[in-house]
Amino acid sequence: MTVRVRYAPSPTGYQHFGNLRTAVFNYLFARKHGGVFVLRIEDTDRERSKKEYEDLIREDFEWLGIAIDESPWHGGEYGPYRQSERLHIYKEHLERLVKKDMVFRCFCEGEGEPEAEKKQVVSPDPCRFLPAEDVKRFEKEGRPFCWRFATPRDAIVRFKDLVRGNVRVKASEVTDFVVIKQDGMPTYHFGVVVDDALMKITHVIRGRDHLTNTANHWLLYDAFGYEKPTWCHISRTSKLKKREMLDALDHLEMGVRPKKPIPVIGYRKLGYLPEAIVNYSALLGWHPRDEIEKFNLDDKIEEFDPKDLTKGDSAFDISKFNWLSEKYIKEADIDRLSELARPFFEAADITPPEDKLYLRLIDALRGKCAMVSELPPRFVPFIGGVKLAEDGRKTLQEPGAKKVLGLIVNKMEAKTDLKPEDFDPIIREVGEELGVKGKNLFFPIRSSIIGTPHGPMMSLYLEIFGKDEVLRRLRAGIGE
Ligand code: GLU
Repeated sequence: MTVRVRYAPSPTGYQHFGNLRTAVFNYLFARKHGGVFVLRIEDTDRERSKKEYEDLIREDFEWLGIAIDESPWHGGEYGPYRQSERLHIYKEHLERLVKKDMVFRCFCEGEGEPEAEKKQVVSPDPCRFLPAEDVKRFEKEGRPFCWRFATPRDAIVRFKDLVRGNVRVKASEVTDFVVIKQDGMPTYHFGVVVDDALMKITHVIRGRDHLTNTANHWLLYDAFGYEKPTWCHISRTSKLKKREMLDALDHLEMGVRPKKPIPVIGYRKLGYLPEAIVNYSALLGWHPRDEIEKFNLDDKIEEFDPKDLTKGDSAFDISKFNWLSEKYIKEADIDRLSELARPFFEAADITPPEDKLYLRLIDALRGKCAMVSELPPRFVPFIGGVKLAEDGRKTLQEPGAKKVLGLIVNKMEAKTDLKPEDFDPIIREVGEELGVKGKNLFFPIRSSIIGTPHGPMMSLYLEIFGKDEVLRRLRAGIGE
């Protein structure tokens, strides 16, 4: 048996960590078993589905580097992979159930419309018992209707979920749910079962929110006589509401880390690295055995087992995500990072220096950067003059700051042929002679050279600016 799994997003909104990790777990499972990873677009909600969201799904996957085997844009032998192009298939499947008397028309006003579907319905549905002559008459009158499934009341749904274990539901608890809406579109339940069955999906790995839908699906599989897949419902995680996502995207600020999870497209715009996103997604509901949280997804294929997925919900931890992102930026290939950074300089209206200095500074300044858009502002003290920030000014006004700067200047002046690596020993000497250390020692030096107490290591200043410029800045600091 070839393992075939699918990720089935509805193009009604942005992708976020909540649904991305479903794709990641499906991907890992497919690769582990030498199987096939299918992406199907579930666009039967005519009003809410948008082509632009589908395009973004495609772009996100390309950017994230998660390889898909079959999809609307990759093709494959079980297509079409867009539900809106499969209506003839649903129609044919409806006919099968009509013939078996397993569905019935429901003429109740508004039934089968997306909103009405959510309403509590009486079970069994009254239209199930409409006399044949009424059905005929209503049809003649042209009354709109939807098709409902005549749930076999005495069936017992039983399946073993890979994460949740044995699940048992009495079919009498399942309503006579809608399968084809008034507009002729299949409902989620109907489309998903027909498609998963015809696309030969062997394992359905999806969010826990769908666990309650599985009884409906199980009954439909039975009705068609199709072989059921193995289900695997992964835990929930924090996700943003659509409106919050739109709002977050409208208020993105380059170089400012978002405080809440945002859609993938938002991270892409801010310059987070795709491998950090993929890595963090996998940590939402799963953990590597060696506890090393930074990993390449493909290195975890062998180890991945859905049985290890957590049962409890997982929370998005913004500081962990940023910590991981910082690590990726710190270890990224320097040429790649430099190229990724260029558009952010343009956006920030900061002209990067010539190539050699540019590369050197990217390397020196990338520490503790979670996103590439944090880099350009860090360049400013190195390419423009010093602009004293508020914290820099305060530091220079601290008692003792001027003494530190004075002694450094003296020692630097006294040393001929001063090299970048001499800077640290000089600072150490000054600290010892004056009996100061830590921030009382380093903060005034940095504040006068780059305008703020926080920044890269000291030796970089001498390397980049040279002795005369560093001395000039230190003296200016004494004058503050
Ligand atoms: N289109 C459904 C969703 O986005 C897919 C659910 C499933 O995987 O069955 O929630």
